[in-house]
Amino acid sequence: MDSIRELKIDEIEKLIIDLGEKKFRAKQIFQWIHQKGIYKFEQMKNIPNSLIEKLEENYYLQNMDVEKVSESAEDGTKKILFNLKDNEVVETVLMKYKYGNSICISTQVGCRMGCKFCASTIGGLKRNITAGEMLGQVYEVNRMIDKNINHIVLMGSGEPLENFDEVIKFLEMINHSEGYYLSLRNITISTCGLIPEIKKLADKKLQITLAISLHGATDETRNKLMPINKKYPIEELLKAVDYYIEKTNRRITFEYAMIKDLNDSASEARVLSKLLKGKLVHVNLIPINKVEENQFYPSDEKQIIKFKSILEKTGINVTIRRELGSDINAACGQLRNNYNQTKIEIIEKL
Ligand code: SF4
Repeated sequence: MDSIRELKIDEIEKLIIDLGEKKFRAKQIFQWIHQKGIYKFEQMKNIPNSLIEKLEENYYLQNMDVEKVSESAEDGTKKILFNLKDNEVVETVLMKYKYGNSICISTQVGCRMGCKFCASTIGGLKRNITAGEMLGQVYEVNRMIDKNINHIVLMGSGEPLENFDEVIKFLEMINHSEGYYLSLRNITISTCGLIPEIKKLADKKLQITLAISLHGATDETRNKLMPINKKYPIEELLKAVDYYIEKTNRRITFEYAMIKDLNDSASEARVLSKLLKGKLVHVNLIPINKVEENQFYPSDEKQIIKFKSILEKTGINVTIRRELGSDINAACGQLRNNYNQTKIEIIEKL
């Protein structure tokens, strides 16, 4: 059986015609799945039973089950661990902000980028997540909270631009006027800095926000944290940033995890100021969550404020992102890792 959440509207049309049904049914089915967010075929009230039976014979609708939910007592952030059809697990984070609910979805099971501060990469890359599984994370969270999410960030486990085609398909489907119809302006894609894909994305001129994980102002610092920097160093990355801004006229966000005594010095801030001066960018300083598996500690608050003011003096737009869900291991990949670790421990005990 296949997942019907993977099918674009023209693919459903083809399927319907192949089944000997009227073409207009495709639009109705697409609306039920993506606009109304149903999870059982029998909920399609205006579709004849005979067609529902045919769909049920060949497809399933719900492509994941909730395995575990952790909720932060501090700020209400929820981490949801989903079990996919092949028993891989993937995590999604629901965050509550003043402007509404936002979710952070995963785009790969695991990751092979090797960022040193990230738990997602510890077991390497298992596989890409499909567009239907990205949509599934959104729809299942909506169902859980009985509300429609209106901001999505592709910043969970995985490097979204390494899964380029499925991410683009997800954007097309979630933005479809007969479907969920979410504005691309409400979607942020985060990358560790894959230069060819940043340029490819620029050429598509989408209205999304692109966020780049920088985490260091010099190659020396960034090399310590992100192996990708050896392939795509900062100078080359910033050329791709210029290309992206020129093509899209969209402001780029730089994510900068503040790590004590590693990348948070005043001199690093001054180098960063020089690099970004005059560019259409925004810098997000993020006090990191402590990850059990590594030796990094969050910067002191005083140091973060100093770093911020150095950037601001150069006219750079900077915010300090609120740390959410620190009591539930909300850092990328931690829930899935802990879950897998528990599974391993259980298996070892047997
Ligand atoms: S930070 Fe993102 S790109 Fe880097 S290892 Fe983690 S999931 Fe992969």
